[in-house]
Amino acid sequence: MAIPALAAAMLASAAAAAKTVAPPPPFQPWLTELRSDEEKRCVGAATLYAALGGVQPIPRVIELDRRQPEFTLTLGSYFKKAISEKRIAIGREMLKKHAALLRRVSKKYGVQPRFLVAFWGLESNFGQYTGVFPVVGALVTLAHDRRRARFFREQLLAVLQLIDGGHFPTSVKGSWAGAMGNHQFIPTTYRDFAVDFDGDGKRDLWNSLPDIFASAAHYLSRSGWDKDRTWGREIRIPKGFDIALAGTDTRKSLAEWQSLGIRRADGGSLPKVDVEASVMLPAGYRGPAFLVYRNYRTILVWNRSHLYALAVGHLADRLAGQGPLVAKLADDGPLSRQNILEMQRLLARLGFDPGVPDGRVGPKTRKAIKAYQIDATLPPDAYPTKALIRHMRARAK
Ligand code: CA
Repeated sequence: MAIPALAAAMLASAAAAAKTVAPPPPFQPWLTELRSDEEKRCVGAATLYAALGGVQPIPRVIELDRRQPEFTLTLGSYFKKAISEKRIAIGREMLKKHAALLRRVSKKYGVQPRFLVAFWGLESNFGQYTGVFPVVGALVTLAHDRRRARFFREQLLAVLQLIDGGHFPTSVKGSWAGAMGNHQFIPTTYRDFAVDFDGDGKRDLWNSLPDIFASAAHYLSRSGWDKDRTWGREIRIPKGFDIALAGTDTRKSLAEWQSLGIRRADGGSLPKVDVEASVMLPAGYRGPAFLVYRNYRTILVWNRSHLYALAVGHLADRLAGQGPLVAKLADDGPLSRQNILEMQRLLARLGFDPGVPDGRVGPKTRKAIKAYQIDATLPPDAYPTKALIRHMRARAK
């Protein structure tokens, strides 16, 4: 699975880890029951025998599912990995090399080629990393583990149906969480949206570029992609901009944002088109600011991480020849779990409620940070930094 999707899964895992879950039932009787259930759900007996015979839980998958990130992700550290010069160069080359195919796919499904190549680069580094775990074994492990059993049970069923349909063999490989192919589709997405664009009867997201690009485009178009618009753009916010207006909850027309003093990153006026947009401040009020459109929300359907969505958008822009972000990406480094723990304890000591200190920036901690910032007459962007921790330390003395 690509870095961003993995990060999102890791965050979800950390949240799941906080809950206590009953230990898994004995494996073999559980597997026997699963087999007869899936047979009732119309998976062929031969497929079940081939896929599930001899399958065993994979301890490494559980380990990866329970792993907690050591550092919070920042826009700076994320973009550095996700949008390297090398990736931009390869992406531009791919865009040229596969131009004719991408045009055909784009014409049929209404997704601009630069986005298809950007997703491809982020998900599998253009097909280089599609995962080494046996997907059936990984999904059996996670379904048996009970923590997110229902979700992974659905994923397992989808994989079995796809094997049954002859789209790939039982030995299919993917990420530890079962994401597959060049765009790292989870099995239900693969089952519901992958298409056979080269007409060989198989939906092959490993070896067939026509299937790969068309499947991504089909999924995006069914998720609400707008072929006539881009994803959003970097902007400049005016001094004294009301930070409470940032976030996807607030949507305004470009004309309204223009009247509130928002400009393009180069200082120019916003385009005069009739679209609704939200302001994003992913690195706090000091970092780069963005105006995001409908396609940004569609990228969030694919992966709910905002850093991922911004990376797809910005990488697509770079592939189309645009330059780097205008605002500086430098920050004072990502925060470790220890840093966040200290901040949570300081917040509690100063009378703000960050919840039980757990070293992670969840909604309660963000709320407490914002309350602290308002109290200290700092811009309330709810964005934790080392400078903010120093500010708290001084106040707590
Ligand atoms: Ca095919």
